[in-house]
Amino acid sequence: MKENFDFLMPSVNFFGKGVITKIGDRAKMLNMKKPLIVTDKVLEGMDNGPVAQTLASLDAAGVDYVVFDGVEPNPKIRNIKASKKMYLDNNCDSIITVGGGSSHDCGKGTGIILTNGDDITKLAGIETLENPLPPLMAVNTTAGTASELTRHCVITNEETKLKFVVVSWRNIPLVSFNDPMLELDVPKGLTAATGMDTFVQAIEPYVSTNRNEITDGQCVEAIKLVEESLREAVSNGHNVEARTKMVEAEMLGGMAFNNADLGYVHAMAHQLGGQYDAPHGVCCAMLLPIVEKYNIPACPERFAELAKIMGENTDGLSTRDAADLAIKAMRQMCDDVNIPRSIKSIGAKPEDFELMAENALKDGNAFSNPRKGTKEDIV
Ligand code: NAD
Repeated sequence: MKENFDFLMPSVNFFGKGVITKIGDRAKMLNMKKPLIVTDKVLEGMDNGPVAQTLASLDAAGVDYVVFDGVEPNPKIRNIKASKKMYLDNNCDSIITVGGGSSHDCGKGTGIILTNGDDITKLAGIETLENPLPPLMAVNTTAGTASELTRHCVITNEETKLKFVVVSWRNIPLVSFNDPMLELDVPKGLTAATGMDTFVQAIEPYVSTNRNEITDGQCVEAIKLVEESLREAVSNGHNVEARTKMVEAEMLGGMAFNNADLGYVHAMAHQLGGQYDAPHGVCCAMLLPIVEKYNIPACPERFAELAKIMGENTDGLSTRDAADLAIKAMRQMCDDVNIPRSIKSIGAKPEDFELMAENALKDGNAFSNPRKGTKEDIV
């Protein structure tokens, strides 16, 4: 646990049903004259979807804009370069991201190379950004990565197949919007994958070496909310209460890992995502029970507490047995929302494991994992 720390908070977050209608006025308040809307083709094509509702609010406020819809899942360097070109060709002055983590990270990446130099690979790491990004707002549509309020920007180098992270307080959007009504039509598989990402983003900071009392509270509440609502959000996507609780969990987990950092689940998931272009939430979920079982010897009492937080009855059990119940609960959650058990399902091949393991140990998320592993452990 850290005793002295700087604590990052999102600046302004609009939360709740219908808040998306406020974005036009906020754009005006921020003096945005021509924002670049950074999104993907799926969201752009949805009738009255998140992009259409964002543009309607900007139209009502008389704010001009240009739409870049070239974001790919696990956004690539080519995406941020194309987005930067559109920004400059159209004399934009600000950025509004609409979507899940991929849109937000593409928008952050665009802002980074607009003001901090064209080679984003040189900026991978912690607090590497010297200059502020252009004004940035984020409309979030998955629960989720929490990228709409974090200092992280995750980009994939399509040539090396390496996912890397630029971590800086300058990446935090000035304003973000979390309107659960934008998420009612998220398909089951995507709800499960993104919801599991939220679950992992509350569990890893709870056992991180960089945790503090404030992040502990955020993690506990986020885990309880996921336990209460993820299964229901997956099976009945139009349940507004379940969707709302998942958004709350997402925001709490995001604030927690913004400050306490993550661990080997994310360090390894980034390798699978980069190498096989696989969905981030699925990679995290498949790794979660395996990595956390490995982590138990470093802090068994934390895992015993996790079991209780997840609703398990640990009365009369030894610390180790209670800790094992936490792993069982994680596995049960994965099974209940239909996460595949094997990384073979995303095309992972044993011949890639050594290199991915080496890179996982260099990933920025590896350093706060509670147990220090070797390459062989990761393989
Ligand atoms: P995503 O943004 O890649 O979206 C996945 C798909 O879902 C896309 O096809 C998108 O069009 C669709 N979609 C999104 N919202 C929808 C909606 N409301 N209705 C219907 N379809 C919708 O998925 P994600 O899991 O949100 O983001 C993953 C990315 O975020 C990965 O690259 C991951 O590494 C990164 N990430 C970033 C952070 C951070 O803090 N910056 C944290 C965790 C993960």
